Amino acid sequence: MNPHAKKARQFLADTERADWQDKALWAVRQKRDLAVYAVKEWEELREQASRIKENVLSNLDNYLLQFEEAAISNGAQVHWAFDADRFNEIVLKIINVNTAVKVVKSKSMLTEECGLNHFLESYGIEITDTDLGERIIQLRGEPPSHIVLPAIHLKREEVSELFHEKLQTEKGNSDPTYLTSAARKHLREKFLEAEIAITGVNFAVAETGTVVVCTNEGNADMGVHSAPVQIHCMGIEKIIPRNIDLGVFTRLLARSATGQPITTYTSLYRKPKPGGQMHIIIVDNGRSEHLGNPVHRNSLKCIRCGACMNTCPVYRRSGGHSYGSIIPGPIGSILSPIKEMKEKQDLPFASSLCGSCSDVCPVKVDIHRQIYSWRQEISEKKLFPVTKNIILNLAGKVLSRNGIYNFTGKTARWILRNVSRKLVYSKINTWGLGRELPEPPRESFKEWFKKNNKIN
Ligand code: SF4
Repeated sequence: MNPHAKKARQFLADTERADWQDKALWAVRQKRDLAVYAVKEWEELREQASRIKENVLSNLDNYLLQFEEAAISNGAQVHWAFDADRFNEIVLKIINVNTAVKVVKSKSMLTEECGLNHFLESYGIEITDTDLGERIIQLRGEPPSHIVLPAIHLKREEVSELFHEKLQTEKGNSDPTYLTSAARKHLREKFLEAEIAITGVNFAVAETGTVVVCTNEGNADMGVHSAPVQIHCMGIEKIIPRNIDLGVFTRLLARSATGQPITTYTSLYRKPKPGGQMHIIIVDNGRSEHLGNPVHRNSLKCIRCGACMNTCPVYRRSGGHSYGSIIPGPIGSILSPIKEMKEKQDLPFASSLCGSCSDVCPVKVDIHRQIYSWRQEISEKKLFPVTKNIILNLAGKVLSRNGIYNFTGKTARWILRNVSRKLVYSKINTWGLGRELPEPPRESFKEWFKKNNKIN
């Protein structure tokens, strides 16, 4: 069994959690639908966003240089990181130059991708995630299971236990208001002590050198306003050309992510505070290679709203951790094989190809088509496990020879009708483990058609 299927089975063993997660994510999808239906020009907005991103991807080198020039003239310090190691080193260097040891960080999938927390901790730096969901999973020593709702897999009783152990809250008290106040008090101390604040970047405006950070908790702003040094970390694809383009994306992002008309805080950072420092680190880490891939470059348009996860029937029923990648779900199934095709060959198969992901995507990434392309590429390169290769080769032989196909169909129908149910529903038949096979017909469709086709 492949790693995703194995981990999904473990997740599904806890039926209560699986049902609850499915319902929670579907509720977010429904909220998104209501918010979207209220905007009559929604499809025009999607088209516009997709075209803006297409323009950015086609002229990325120029826009990045324009952004750098504008940011430097605003007083920011711009750094370039080719890969995750270089990125982590740059952050460490800024921390060391400022003789800092305490850092707060708002949500950033890029820092997860580069393993920044572990890297800094190995140098004795205390780094605190300040988004509530991120802090919960940080205290549990887990990666996020969703890009917008990182702790969606946890019940509040589990958060209560965790807070009792780590933050000394009252045992058994799982009241959300009580737990949130405890987290706020705990984080307030971290903000006040922090010497450096790190944030992710949702958008970077080329014409003004501004970075835009969207949060619902205001934690990015708390960090940036209280610490003297601010570091903003962005992938090269976060660029948008003009300030005027921002409205297109902010209208799409929050509605797609959580069903809100706009995120509670949309902060534009342009220059350092008086006496402070503002650093912007622009990271490649494989994105240039991705850009050069004609089939998959479109997925660089992603604005990380998470809508494709909330709608995906496979993600909702298998849990984010089963994907074994920083970005799970449909978009993760496209992004992960770009870097690790062999290791992540199973992810494009964790999809029903229903196309719902592409329908909800606010920037029109053709997600299900890209997943399908991955399947073809992985199949051509024979990256499947040996057993799957043997089965597919056999299936190919059967499906391409009329006589063998007819014989196999007849035999299968006979087996399904006459062999003991225990044998048919054995461990080998994983498809049948979770569902009933349809009742086998007495004749094949071809035989039926021959008899009933009155025209010929
Ligand atoms: S691929 Fe589209 S729907 Fe999925 S996270 Fe990215 S922007 Fe959102």
